[in-house]
Amino acid sequence: MAVSEPKRLELPTPFRIGSVNAYLLEGSPLTLVDTGPRWPASLEALDAALAHHGHALEQIELVILTHQHCDHFGLADVIRRRSGARVAAIAPLAVYVEDYERTVAAEDDFAVDVMRRYGVESARIDAIYAISRSFWRHAEPVEVDVRLADGETIVAGGRALRVAVRPGHSPTDTLFVDESAAVGFTGDHLLPRVSSNPVVHRPLGGGGVERRDRTLALYLDSLGRTAELGLRTILPGHGPPHAAPNELIASRVGHHEERKEAIAGLIAKGRRTVSELADALWGDVHETQIYLAVSEVLGHTDLLIGEGRLREVDGKNGVSFAPTAGA
Ligand SMILES: [Zn+2]
Repeated sequence: MAVSEPKRLELPTPFRIGSVNAYLLEGSPLTLVDTGPRWPASLEALDAALAHHGHALEQIELVILTHQHCDHFGLADVIRRRSGARVAAIAPLAVYVEDYERTVAAEDDFAVDVMRRYGVESARIDAIYAISRSFWRHAEPVEVDVRLADGETIVAGGRALRVAVRPGHSPTDTLFVDESAAVGFTGDHLLPRVSSNPVVHRPLGGGGVERRDRTLALYLDSLGRTAELGLRTILPGHGPPHAAPNELIASRVGHHEERKEAIAGLIAKGRRTVSELADALWGDVHETQIYLAVSEVLGHTDLLIGEGRLREVDGKNGVSFAPTAGA
């Protein structure tokens, strides 16, 4: 039996990124991929979009989640309560969302520690901390009924979706791949309009700054593995579908290579702290974007350190960067 195309439901968010996509998969079980944030305008739009396609939220039978960011799973508990739908996610994401209040509090503390370590000014840290607290409210804990693992398949909307774990943008990034159609739901792992930020998250097993992941290195590795899937189309978490995912991956890899060299050049000219590098790259960074800017800079300095071209220097105002002797 032919399976209908996934329906993209574009839902508003209160965030700078703009709208977020949920996808409706018609077929058994009636499925949503991601949910939109816990925000009245988003829920209203979700109800209306489902009605437009001849369904009600109460009929949803399965919700699958692409990652831990609140614009993607914030309404999961509302949907689960109203419909009785099962919620499915990889096991570490299940742990994260079930214990959401505690995990996001720990996440904020971790981000503050990262910024302190790298000498970000305390006024900036205070600003982003306050903003972060207001953002997290756009999700709530949700119980996960089905715990998935990398490589498994799940039947959703009349098709089999392969679970492909691709950390980097967040530690729980999950692709759901319909191999028969070479179509992948990519969440924020690969976006057509913007380069995905390698957000420096608290490690899933917990631990402090010294245990942080090299998120951009992880991300680039994940992108390489996604290229091997040979997808024909991606259905991303933001923006329209994209029909040449491997070209998009090549352009993202090229972009990061250029940015890495730009950062190496700035450091050679004496811009040595994370804040100096961020301001040199993006002007005066908007306060909501500070942690994303810190994450982007650290992603690249991690790569340069890995290549032996840079070293961390401890100073009274935190860690900065200097070229190695041979670089
Ligand atoms: Zn995200």
